[in-house]
Amino acid sequence: MSAPATGQDPHGVVADRLHRDGQRYTRGRRALVTVLLGAGRPLTIAELLRADEGWSQSSVYRNLGVLEACGVVDRLPAADGVARFEVTEELSRHHHHLVCAGCGRLDDVDLPARVEATLHAVTAEAGEALGYEVDEHRLELIGRCPDCR
Ligand SMILES: [Zn+2]
Ligand SMILES: [Zn+2]
Repeated sequence: MSAPATGQDPHGVVADRLHRDGQRYTRGRRALVTVLLGAGRPLTIAELLRADEGWSQSSVYRNLGVLEACGVVDRLPAADGVARFEVTEELSRHHHHLVCAGCGRLDDVDLPARVEATLHAVTAEAGEALGYEVDEHRLELIGRCPDCR
């Protein structure tokens, strides 16, 4: 996984955010963030539970809620109605998602820098036309995964 945009240690960022919220960066929360950072795609609760046999569903739910509330984890709604979780771009990198309309599978996709530059220019122009200053963009590619094709 590439370094975060901020160049900071992602765990340091998480610890700061949690402290600001009056929360502690417990071992369980750190383990959860480590799994999400290494996954390479958003994970469901079921996938997270498979990553560590010591985790209970209730503690994973609770810790994800705390991490989401302090702005370091995003919950992604999906076509299959199963929420998936990833660390925010601040902790990972700018990327987009590929979504399977058949089974709901969700993968990370990195676009070439020149495409990102074009997207940046195009979205800035589109926003400007309506008097907006555009700070960021999100792009979802929807189709069918290798299993569903
Ligand atoms: Zn699929
Ligand atoms: Zn982009």
